[in-house]
Amino acid sequence: MNALVIWHGTYAEATDLLQAIERNCGCETHNGTLVRCGAHDMLDRDQRAIDGLLFARRIASRLLDEEFGPDRPAADEAAPTPVAAPAKPPARPRRKRRSKTAPGPS
Ligand SMILES: [Zn+2]
Repeated sequence: MNALVIWHGTYAEATDLLQAIERNCGCETHNGTLVRCGAHDMLDRDQRAIDGLLFARRIASRLLDEEFGPDRPAADEAAPTPVAAPAKPPARPRRKRRSKTAPGPS
């Protein structure tokens, strides 16, 4: 990260982001010139994207709780392996069904 982007997260969050980018880096050398990947470009130039990733990381656990309840996989277990899906989707909380019969006169 350079001076064009200001990191608003913690040291641990920065380390996790850098490790994720290293795992997904597509930088390559073409005729002796380094061609940077989109992820590394983002680190240097896209403040909004960096802030958005940090925000999403911080609310991921809450969103998973709201969607799947307490039996869901932890956010840090689900995030790094996008191809790994649970064998059985977590059970969704059941909603009460409205009665199809109209209430009678009382
Ligand atoms: Zn790269």
